[in-house]
Amino acid sequence: MGYVPGKFDRDGAEDMDRIAKTIFAPIYPVIAQQIIERCGISRGRCLDIGSGPGSLGIALAQASTLAVTLLDSSPDMIAVARENVREAGLSGRVTLLLGDVHDIPLPARSVDLAVSRGSLFFWENHPRAFSEIHRVLAPGGMACVGGGFGTAELRDAIAATMERANPGWRNFRDRNLGTDNRERVGGILADLGFCHRIISDDSGFWVVMEKER
Ligand code: SAM
Repeated sequence: MGYVPGKFDRDGAEDMDRIAKTIFAPIYPVIAQQIIERCGISRGRCLDIGSGPGSLGIALAQASTLAVTLLDSSPDMIAVARENVREAGLSGRVTLLLGDVHDIPLPARSVDLAVSRGSLFFWENHPRAFSEIHRVLAPGGMACVGGGFGTAELRDAIAATMERANPGWRNFRDRNLGTDNRERVGGILADLGFCHRIISDDSGFWVVMEKER
């Protein structure tokens, strides 16, 4: 298990896909349900940003009637996600889009629900990324952006498994989900003036943003 955080080429995409289908597999339906409940949106257009192999977007499509677009800046992740969408029998409702969160290739006000898990830790310019997410949200649309593992039980079980094969993984996780990062991202959202709240609990660290009507 040679998972290297931040490696998004073909090997990285295959590693992420393997982990998403094994160790991480139970978290995606749980997180999808949490997002649907937090945002109160289960139909319309959904954008999964930094979707990787597509597990969260696929779980959201399975738990709702949302039409989901999986956006990722890595062509190798998009290729893996395309295969996963096909295997899930969701090619009619889940589409793929190669693109960067800093310049989302979608029109303004075209997305009802924007989600992103485990990707913002790799973004270079958070003010620009959150401005782009806000731009593509429809009036009344919601975004749920962050990272986590759904529940404390899942988080702890995954940490134990990941740490065995990747010493230092727990430090990487704690840095991403820790207070410094939360406060920095919260400050950016406050400066941008976007209506939002920060969730920090057993489910992880999530920014829930709402676009004004
Ligand atoms: N969301 C997936 C999940 O939870 O299983 C994948 C998370 S993976 C750790 C992070 C993903 O974010 C990678 O697929 C990477 O290519 C993508 N990513 C990183 N920077 C990005 C950017 N600027 N724009 C779009 N995607 C990006």
